[in-house]
Amino acid sequence: MNSNQKKKSPFVVIASISCVLLIAILGSVYYKYNTAQSTTNEQEPIDSLPLVENSTPAESTTQSTEGTPSNDIVPKTEPVKEAEPTEQPKENEVEIVNGYIEGQQPATEPTYVNGVLIVNKKNPLPADYDKGEDPTAKAAFDKMAVAAKAEGIELVAFSGYRSYEYQTSLYDRYVAKDGKGEADRYSARPGHSEHQSGLAFDIGEKGREDLWLTSAFGETKAGQWLVNNAHKHGFILRYPKGKEEITGFMYESWHFRYLDGDLATKVYEAGVTLEEYLGLE
Ligand SMILES: [Zn+2]
Repeated sequence: MNSNQKKKSPFVVIASISCVLLIAILGSVYYKYNTAQSTTNEQEPIDSLPLVENSTPAESTTQSTEGTPSNDIVPKTEPVKEAEPTEQPKENEVEIVNGYIEGQQPATEPTYVNGVLIVNKKNPLPADYDKGEDPTAKAAFDKMAVAAKAEGIELVAFSGYRSYEYQTSLYDRYVAKDGKGEADRYSARPGHSEHQSGLAFDIGEKGREDLWLTSAFGETKAGQWLVNNAHKHGFILRYPKGKEEITGFMYESWHFRYLDGDLATKVYEAGVTLEEYLGLE
């Protein structure tokens, strides 16, 4: 037994060592495999983490999709581009100062709109437009004065035709007195006065010179008569109340413009300014 045991014992030892080794090898392989798997399993969450991280940017992508607002910002930027038209007028835009086109070159020709001579802040007469008082307009005034006198009103045309040079001295005087801003409201710059056309008259009442060139004249019997009857004689109240933005001039109860034919009646009945009637604004 002992010898057998001794003989066997090396075999048993080898076998058991082999078994132990095999178990150890298998164990380590299994461990490694398991470790590898567990690592793989751990990596999955890691991957899924980055996925989550990616999905976070993906969410932020989604947000930017939801952030259609951020897409709206793009269209919002486009409308801002639509503000280009705002820039375009800037190119064409002329600087308007007190109704005048700044830097406007002196006119070389008078402006006619539908055959009507138009003189205002944007449409000046050439400096050499010098036809004097229009005889037809003067005759119309005289006829109107006769009609008014029949109703006890004595009209006086205290200012009619004015030359370019005279308007220059007049305007300069007003600017010196009231400043350019204020003078531009009631006195035309040279070339821009309707008086240069010979078709305009400043009208007052004889004996009430104190009311000449005042808005108070418009409240008098004579002023009211003109408002209601001037058109029958070819005249319009050129600068009515509340139309300063359109005509360029403050209300002038005294300033009347002669228009050929029945145009004055048409403008009067339309209840608009000459600019509006002619489609100018
Ligand atoms: Zn006038």
